[in-house]
Amino acid sequence: MHEAMMTAEVGDDMFGEDPTVAELEKVAADMFGRDAALYCASGTMTNQIAIRLHTRLQDEIICHKYSHIYLYESGGIMSNSGVSVRLLEGERGLITAEDVKAAIQPDDIHSPVSRLVSLENTMNKGGGSCYDLDEIWSIRETCHEHGLALHLDGARLFNALVAKGQSAKDYGEIFDTISICLSKGLGAPVGSLLVGSHDDIKRAKRIRKVMGGAWRQAGYIAAGGLYALQHNIGRLQEDHDKAKLIASVLEGLDYVEEVYPCETNILIFKLTDKYTHQEYVAKLAEHDVHAFAFGPQLIRFVTHLDFTDDHMNLLIEVLKRL
Ligand SMILES: *Cc1c(COP(=O)(O)O)cnc(C)c1O
Repeated sequence: MHEAMMTAEVGDDMFGEDPTVAELEKVAADMFGRDAALYCASGTMTNQIAIRLHTRLQDEIICHKYSHIYLYESGGIMSNSGVSVRLLEGERGLITAEDVKAAIQPDDIHSPVSRLVSLENTMNKGGGSCYDLDEIWSIRETCHEHGLALHLDGARLFNALVAKGQSAKDYGEIFDTISICLSKGLGAPVGSLLVGSHDDIKRAKRIRKVMGGAWRQAGYIAAGGLYALQHNIGRLQEDHDKAKLIASVLEGLDYVEEVYPCETNILIFKLTDKYTHQEYVAKLAEHDVHAFAFGPQLIRFVTHLDFTDDHMNLLIEVLKRL
């Protein structure tokens, strides 16, 4: 990946003249069977651009209460787009067509206008949970019936594709826009892509500009993203296998109250009162194991391409010793 980045051919992407950025955008668009894609600095940026693209002031977005766009994008829904959010409940961060239907606002001046549904797959705070395509198709139909746009926060989509045996084109067919991250499971240093129709991506480019996201010789980092798309999807199953193995070790430990279902590379478990989550995260860090507290007594582990078999052996030793 470094080699590809150091030798990348670049140009001024502000004028659409960076061949490596253009190639990355074309490869991503083709992968999803769509017209176009836009390379951006982060997943937050691609999501925020998509929200702006699909909504107008006073509109409302429908999404799960665990959604990254709501919880972890610093209130951007409000500050960038001036829209409100209708938050849904649902098992492991997943929502259903039925819930969406029930959340659509009436045509009444008292209510915001429901305009956009946003799904997240895999669902980070849901423990890397994945959607079945049937449910997504039902949500798509509901959106069609009510004139709502449908966006996918697919920062971790490739993990879902591998776990569920689905294809990128399945998703390209369903969603108006899809955001994918090259810097999460795929291991590139920087960047996300927004995929969609010619018209949407043309407008998205203008929104990216006003967010300060138009750039010049971005080809150096785009080359890392391209390498990631071409080489690092096939190996994601290894991360999933490792997460499942860690889950099975945790199941047998006295300080673990519950291990949540593990479908992909994210693993959430609940501690007994032997440790608080703060104490546990600090203990792990003493042994150079870095994890995230995900709520009261909840810990999140994420496996990834730099987490080797040697790391795995060390981790198991540490987990058993605590
Ligand atoms: C990480 C993440 C994002 C945002 O990506 P950044 O590049 O950190 O801005 C969006 N959605 C999900 C589900 C994520 O996990």
